[in-house]
Amino acid sequence: MPGPKGMVAPLPSVGSGSLWQATSVARPAFGRLSGDQSFDVAIIGGGYTGLSSARYLSKAGLSPVVIEANCIGWGASGRNGGVVSGKFRIGFKDIAARHGLDTARRMHALGLEAIEHVGQLIEELGIAGAESRPTGSLRCAHNARTLEALRSEAAWLREALGDTDVSMLSAGEVADETGSRGFTGGMLNTHGGVIHPLNFVLGLAAGLKAAGIAIYENTPVTRFGREGTGVVVETPRGRITARQLVIATNAYSDMTPATDMVRTSIIPFRSAMVATEALGGTPGAGLLASGRSYTETRRMMRWFRKSGDRLLYGGRGAFGKTDSRAAFAALEKAMVRQFPELASVKVSHKWSGLVAMTLDSLPHLGRLDDRVVYSIGYNGTGVALASGIGRHVAALVTGGTPDLGLLTRQPLPPIPFYGLREPAVRVVAGWYQFLDAIGR
Ligand SMILES: Cc1cc2nc3c(=O)[nH]c(=O)nc-3n(C[C@H](O)[C@H](O)[C@H](O)COP(=O)(O)OP(=O)(O)OC[C@H]3O[C@@H](n4cnc5c(N)ncnc54)[C@H](O)[C@@H]3O)c2cc1C
Repeated sequence: MPGPKGMVAPLPSVGSGSLWQATSVARPAFGRLSGDQSFDVAIIGGGYTGLSSARYLSKAGLSPVVIEANCIGWGASGRNGGVVSGKFRIGFKDIAARHGLDTARRMHALGLEAIEHVGQLIEELGIAGAESRPTGSLRCAHNARTLEALRSEAAWLREALGDTDVSMLSAGEVADETGSRGFTGGMLNTHGGVIHPLNFVLGLAAGLKAAGIAIYENTPVTRFGREGTGVVVETPRGRITARQLVIATNAYSDMTPATDMVRTSIIPFRSAMVATEALGGTPGAGLLASGRSYTETRRMMRWFRKSGDRLLYGGRGAFGKTDSRAAFAALEKAMVRQFPELASVKVSHKWSGLVAMTLDSLPHLGRLDDRVVYSIGYNGTGVALASGIGRHVAALVTGGTPDLGLLTRQPLPPIPFYGLREPAVRVVAGWYQFLDAIGR
């Protein structure tokens, strides 16, 4: 929350700082806004969504400005798992059942376009530090029931959507891939891969800087409102007037009251990660040899990948405003249960961040009114989608009506009984953990 001068105080953390911070390239430097300025479009939030929006608004001939309360990539964009995926939290088969096959096809195509766009960005902007690896992903079944569900999903993806990049692996093949004997099989998807997420967002910001696009750091937006034919955006040391505004604050929309109107459509859910020290010469050296990203089918999903020679393991973080020792300890315990080879290996980095869950498990891109556009609610799968969403944000800002399947469904649905969201999340998480524990 804003401190005495309107600045955003860092939240206390028991984490050690992320592996990404420890291995990042040099940050491009950006000043703090002071005084009054005018632009065509003001963008609140300096993560993938905000930067991508600025890039495409500039390509459309407009002058955008990105305003970030902390530093570029401070939010989820600089802390995430770096898994580049075209999936949504809700599966394509479920989308087809609820909204029809054509909608599922469009959403699938949007996911693939988003993955492709990440590769194009890295190439165009020369972001070598992004360490992009097109390794695909493997979903590992933890019991016979979930294996059967994966088998049926893979068959449906091939038949209904013509996706031939999906195949099934046996229990033995999954054991060879992961080094873990606990899985009954898995679904391999060769789309997507992994990146270094912080270097990717810093490379994106450096590319904008080189193109002369304005970015301000350490500049929290404390309020915005309509004025004349546009909007006025207030920050502690200066004001921006613009014709339109883009809200790109995702799970961090509660940082100041300025973005209250989108905050109540999101449940922030803490996601935590740990990274081991380098595995060379340790009993864990052979794990995850193919370098993909891996998820498991439990409801309280855990996921893992390699970065260089380290293993990264992620899952649910603590409830509430900060991370906790207990949540990291639970994650480490789960990691060792999955990979007993890691029992003697040190964890060198622990960190967490917020993902933005929505009521329908889908991201939302739309207009609040004739001057304000938002793109939020990636439900923990925004690396590819958010970093390419700027094309569509720019289309909306310039009066277009892009065909984005379910992403542009209006209006933004508020979370019912918003004040009860934290206890409600605890109850649901507890129930899911119970079902996972009894193998249901
Ligand atoms: C631990 C973790 C792991 C994840 N792993 C993956 C993964 O492997 N693959 C995947 O696809 N997705 C993953 N995600 C989700 C993904 O990181 C996000 O969907 C994506 O980064 C969202 O980008 P964004 O730009 O919309 O938001 P953010 O990157 O969160 O940026 C929002 C920014 O807005 C700023 N802000 C907020 N309020 C204000 C204000 N009033 N004034 C100015 N600035 C403000 C914040 O400081 C913040 O920097 C993960 C998320 C987390 C937390």
